[in-house]
Amino acid sequence: MSVINRKSVGVVLLSALLLGVLYCYMYQPNRVFGDVGVRRENGRPGDDDIAASNDLHLVAPAHLQYKQPSIIHGRGDVVTVTPWLSPVVWEGTFNAVLLDSIYRPKNISIAATVFAVGKYIKFLKDFLETAEQHFFVGFKVHVYVFTDRPDEVPRVRMAAGRQLTVRPVPSSQRWQEISARRMELIQLLIEEQPRRANSYIFCLDVDSKFHGRWGTESLGGLVAVIHPGYYRDDRSRFPYERRPASRAHLAAGEGDFYYCGGAFGGLLQEVHQLAKTCRANFEDDAKEGIEAAWQEESHLNRYMWINKPSKVLSPEYLWQDFKSRNPEIQIIRFSGVIKNYAEIRPNV
Ligand code: UDP
Ligand code: MN
Repeated sequence: MSVINRKSVGVVLLSALLLGVLYCYMYQPNRVFGDVGVRRENGRPGDDDIAASNDLHLVAPAHLQYKQPSIIHGRGDVVTVTPWLSPVVWEGTFNAVLLDSIYRPKNISIAATVFAVGKYIKFLKDFLETAEQHFFVGFKVHVYVFTDRPDEVPRVRMAAGRQLTVRPVPSSQRWQEISARRMELIQLLIEEQPRRANSYIFCLDVDSKFHGRWGTESLGGLVAVIHPGYYRDDRSRFPYERRPASRAHLAAGEGDFYYCGGAFGGLLQEVHQLAKTCRANFEDDAKEGIEAAWQEESHLNRYMWINKPSKVLSPEYLWQDFKSRNPEIQIIRFSGVIKNYAEIRPNV
């Protein structure tokens, strides 16, 4: 064999070897793609070779007894699933003991953000005290308070496993700006967090109180809350941003529900995507001199139209104290207090 031939045979053999290695690497059966894959919690050693999504894999403790679920009787007065098959959470649709038993071994952690800028600091005490009584009781909770008045943050006794961090933010002369900057600060907060698959975050209005359980039934990838003011209305009456010049706009015939800006959440990576997108769209609008009708709430509604929430919370999860309770509202879990806008906002 000539030298040239021997050389080319070598090159061919080497290439084949490299291709083989590459093939085995790409098609190995237990390869985990992405960084959100989580191994089974309850599998035998060696049984964890296929990644399971943390959110989907629900392991119940053996021997737990609870009321038999029915497949034919349920809440007949409300819709409990969206057209894209996400659950809509209403009282009577879930078993709290079962859900807590499923989520307890997962070692989940829940962050909550709340903004108390200017005179809104006065709402913080009730918010924090009632959160202790109702919000993810028995789970790891970290409340982040963003305020320009760190000295006025009330001292509220928190149970073991729960903590509070105060983050100073500048004051502002426009409530629209305070409200809108929340997305930016939520985005930055999430970027600082360790990347864990079991971390959730909820972003909540401070001018509100908890009155009933808000717990593991609310967990999901991307979680939206139906606004209490419009849920019986035709979509043409939803106060979406309608001007096509805004990145938040929704045209006639678009939009599923009207969601609240005052409560939303989900897995850290999902809420990060939401906050980043809404912030960028808000800022790009601002550069063109346009502010959406309901600031970040408008951008959130646009986002949720494209990125469907994987769990939808009924208006039980953000009612308004001034509204009388409709019959389908069997429990109010979280509700906005009555406030005098002229008195508490820096501008009207
Ligand atoms: N906010 C604040 N200071 C203000 C205005 C608003 O801290 O001067 C925050 C606060 O968390 C509040 C949220 O932004 O709950 C949304 O504003 P607001 O509750 O007034 O809106 P509404 O619920 O009345 O639509
Ligand atoms: Mn509010």
